[in-house]
Amino acid sequence: MAEVLVYVDHVDGAVRKSTLELLTLARRIGEPVAVALGNGAADTAATLAEHGAVKVLTHEAAEYADYLVVPKVDALQAAVEAVSPAAVLVPSSAEGKEVAARLALRIGSGITTDAVDLEVGDEGPVATQSVFAASFTTKSRVSKGTPVITVKPNSAAVEAAPAAGAVEALAVTFSVQATGTKVTARTPRESTGRPELTEAAIVVSGGRGVNGAENFAIIEALADSLGAAVGASRAAVDAGWYPHTSQIGQTGKSVSPQLYIASGISGAIQHRAGMQTSKTIVAINKDAEAPIFDLVDYGVVGDLFDVVPQLTEEIKTRKG
Ligand code: FAD
Repeated sequence: MAEVLVYVDHVDGAVRKSTLELLTLARRIGEPVAVALGNGAADTAATLAEHGAVKVLTHEAAEYADYLVVPKVDALQAAVEAVSPAAVLVPSSAEGKEVAARLALRIGSGITTDAVDLEVGDEGPVATQSVFAASFTTKSRVSKGTPVITVKPNSAAVEAAPAAGAVEALAVTFSVQATGTKVTARTPRESTGRPELTEAAIVVSGGRGVNGAENFAIIEALADSLGAAVGASRAAVDAGWYPHTSQIGQTGKSVSPQLYIASGISGAIQHRAGMQTSKTIVAINKDAEAPIFDLVDYGVVGDLFDVVPQLTEEIKTRKG
């Protein structure tokens, strides 16, 4: 059976959910071989094995933390040369997409980014993408070289599938370019205790209708009752009510959660571009004609200042 490389996104050995989802998709195509790099790489092995990795290629070196993405590209290229995989799957994070693009160029392959599904085709993996603000779904197949495919978080379920997960050291020789851009400072964002926006299973977002930074407290309260991340429309971000890092849409982040709740958001095409692939969409808007209602699964026509706190209380009561 062909092997499929999965690039592991992890923090000091703690594997991110998006990588476990890639293992589910990789198993459709062949045998997943995970590539874990940097501090704690070997510590990822047990989790990866539980989710289907037959092998875990690891390499730890200071370069992965001290420099930008090129050392990781060098390592993935070494893994491709060692394994000759049927495909390389990479999480669609900002870093993942840069690593994948550079890798594809290096190995002379085609690339598909932001896939939301993967299936086996007669001539290789077929990726589904959601394009033009999710008004079209396309299917594509990389026709040159080893397919490099980035996959959006929440595109597949995390499945337990115990496999050997044999750890092997990957031999990596860093290129001259690897040390070209040094990281000079790292400032971790203050933790909100909420899940990362692009990985969250539930996202609760507020827009111009929230009408002030202080009012985002009710959006946050709803999010916290659900264990959700908080997002915002550009109008809310531009008004300075919520950080830019939380903006969802064409010029913000793209999310694809199981549940997306939009409050006081009209549903402009640029906002839809970042959330329309959400599995279930709920909107709360006082204007029954708001375009967001064209794409929702459930819509509430009402004042968010009435509806959102009631919803939060109801969820808290039901959770006990
Ligand atoms: P509005 O469109 O003003 O909608 C506010 C909604 O709140 C209305 O529907 C109103 O009925 C409702 N409302 C008001 N009060 C209440 C209340 N009390 N209770 C319930 N409902 C209420 N936008 C993004 O979001 N993300 C992007 O990445 C993005 N990128 C862009 C890129 C470009 C190049 C351009 C030109 C625009 C971009 N925009 C983006 C902006 C986009 O076009 C819209 O202007 C923006 O999404 C509107 O945000 P909104 O829905 O919060 O505000």
